[in-house]
Amino acid sequence: MIIVLRRDATEEQVGHLVATIRGWGLTTHVSRGTERTIIGVIGDERAIRSKPLEAIPGVESVMAVLKPYKLASLEFQPERTRIRIPAVKPGGAPVEIGGPSVVVVAGPCSVENRDMLFDMARVIRGAGAKLLRAGAFKPRTSPYAFQGLGVEGLRYLAEVRAEVGIPIITEVMDTRDVEMIAEVADILQIGARNMQNFNLLKAVGRCRKPVLLKRALAGTIEELLMSAEYILSEGNREVIVCERGIRTFEKATRNTLDISAVPVIRRESHLPVFVDPSHGTGVWPLVAPMALAAVAAGADGIMVEVHPNPEQALSDGPQALLPKTFEKMMKDLQAVAQAVGRTL
Ligand code: PEP
Ligand code: MN
Repeated sequence: MIIVLRRDATEEQVGHLVATIRGWGLTTHVSRGTERTIIGVIGDERAIRSKPLEAIPGVESVMAVLKPYKLASLEFQPERTRIRIPAVKPGGAPVEIGGPSVVVVAGPCSVENRDMLFDMARVIRGAGAKLLRAGAFKPRTSPYAFQGLGVEGLRYLAEVRAEVGIPIITEVMDTRDVEMIAEVADILQIGARNMQNFNLLKAVGRCRKPVLLKRALAGTIEELLMSAEYILSEGNREVIVCERGIRTFEKATRNTLDISAVPVIRRESHLPVFVDPSHGTGVWPLVAPMALAAVAAGADGIMVEVHPNPEQALSDGPQALLPKTFEKMMKDLQAVAQAVGRTL
């Protein structure tokens, strides 16, 4: 950390600042220039990140040198995190996330009924998807919109998982539901709207199931990684971060999919990165092109919404792919994955 002092900072103020920092257990290096004095803080600055340094007389500005997250950083762990999802049925193949293979997760936005869930599970698995997604508990903007089937939906998810033999990922919105959902889900999803629900992050951090953490609508990449840090710091080291589009002034799409987040996160963190082009664009014709772009940019996985009849969907119909469009996307993804040295 580098502290720049005001031009008119007095020797007394410099002495007070140095003593204060030392009192916090760190050491200092004072450098007196012709214009300004700067103080280099030596030691792990994260220990004093939350101290009100700018409030100390004589301080003009404070520049952090280290990232605010630790466990999530590539400096802390240079090898990439690989997450193994065990096979659901004996003899089945486990799924590895964060390895050379790009993992596709697909399924309807919501669990709407049992039959449709079973249909979609078979369709997406037949096309090469490795996990089924579907929400039983849905975070909807309107309290009058379909809120998900709740516990009934979770029961269908458990049934489809056991019968079709496909691992599932589903959203948890409430700390009180973590254990119940973790009994069924292979991966717990934290939705964009809960990226900074710190109690929920801590609760899934204490849970022994991998977590897919979605970027908030107005969350920076640093904030996303800080939220991952909450989960990691509770002891759960199996975290996937997911870019799903952010709010901008652009109206052509529901959100603006930040593809550059993929290489940025991979540069900063060892955690696997997924991209959700369905919520990222909100319009189905853009989903496949953005999925291809995400894999080209280095995504470890893609999560997309698929529905047999999007015009009747209870949530997110406009962004749902029909099965045949999904199948075509999977073929194209294979070619892109191969072009960037990965498999599907
Ligand atoms: C979802 O995946 O269905 C969902 C609600 O996503 P997000 O939290 O990114 O809006
Ligand atoms: Mn959705």
